[in-house]
Amino acid sequence: MKEIQLSKEQQQQLHARLTIENIARLKVCVWIVILLGGVVLRDGPFLQYYALIYILLLSISAIILFVIYKISKIRDANKQIKYYFNILRVYYAFLLIWGVAVTIMDQRTFGNVTVYLTNLMIVTLFFVVSPKQYIIVHTIPVVSLFLGIFFIQENVAMAIEHFINITVFIIFCVIGSRMIYANYCKGFNQKMQLSIKNEELAILATVDYLTQVNNVLGMKQYIEEQNKKPHDNITVMLFDIDSFKLYNDHYGHLAGDDVLKNVALAVKKVLLHDHYIARVGGEEFIIIAYDLSNHEASQLAEKVRFEVEKLKLEHTQSKTSPYITISLGYVTEQVSPNHSFSSLHQKADEALYRVKENGRNQTQGYMAMYN
Ligand code: GH3
Ligand code: MG
Ligand code: MG
Repeated sequence: MKEIQLSKEQQQQLHARLTIENIARLKVCVWIVILLGGVVLRDGPFLQYYALIYILLLSISAIILFVIYKISKIRDANKQIKYYFNILRVYYAFLLIWGVAVTIMDQRTFGNVTVYLTNLMIVTLFFVVSPKQYIIVHTIPVVSLFLGIFFIQENVAMAIEHFINITVFIIFCVIGSRMIYANYCKGFNQKMQLSIKNEELAILATVDYLTQVNNVLGMKQYIEEQNKKPHDNITVMLFDIDSFKLYNDHYGHLAGDDVLKNVALAVKKVLLHDHYIARVGGEEFIIIAYDLSNHEASQLAEKVRFEVEKLKLEHTQSKTSPYITISLGYVTEQVSPNHSFSSLHQKADEALYRVKENGRNQTQGYMAMYN
């Protein structure tokens, strides 16, 4: 799959997802630290200041868990991510600095660098961070560690060995961290691409290939969405091109296709953004509008009919006019909990049938037929 350039919004999504996943790992990490720290504190033959530094580790870890719990209660998602990210940075840096402090202290006693290296490995493997973040958070601890060993470790050979060991470790950790991050971004990228493709497909599936207005599937989804909204009434209009079979027979099917496109385009232009149009049959279209009065509905119907007539698309074979015209039937009804769309469709269809009977190129409201 080809790499895509992430938009600002997608980068924010990546950051948010990464932060939430890092926080989940952080919680596991904190519990492990608390357990291991607790065991060391209980069993270790400690000098007093070692005990203090382990107590500090346990206390900060417990506080971090508490703060994470508090942040999880925040409802504003953006704020929550921001706080999570900050707490992550704090604990990440704390683990490193704590490791540095213990390692420097160790130079006077055991003389090893295990604690720093362990913490370095833990943060590298547990947390997925960008190379930039990685460098920012690691620089101060590493420099402090090197300075600490330089000044405190009296055995020069040992200090040199530590420098070499730490440097080798850091090089591998930097490479490892980059690989983990790159892999994560690749996975995210692929998911993004798939979801973009799915969205595109979902839209394509609801659009009529010929006229580029909505199709029946689009209309069904639209009605479902609208049913959830509060509306007073609904207007359904059905219109159909007059003598279209004769047009096709005379001008050819391709010319007929052009007529369908032009008619759809012209009607779309007179509709407002909250009016919905779909092609529901070969040369039959539906318009759905909400909260129009009867008068507004009849005005709109007439406007649509007139817009098509105005195109003056030649149709010498038409029984109605020398141009392409449409017949339109509509119905306006109050929205009630048990109103059915198919009954509205049927009523608009009946009104359309009347127009066809009455000579075409006209509009007719269903109510008006019986009032
Ligand atoms: P009326 O005025 O009563 O509506 O007559 P009509 O000829 O328009 O109605 P009829 O239902 O007899 O014919 C509809 C025609 O529409 C038949 C078909 O060839 C044509 N048609 C349906 N879909 C398409 C299409 O996608 N492209 C083209 N060019 N023609 C189509
Ligand atoms: Mg028809
Ligand atoms: Mg027709």
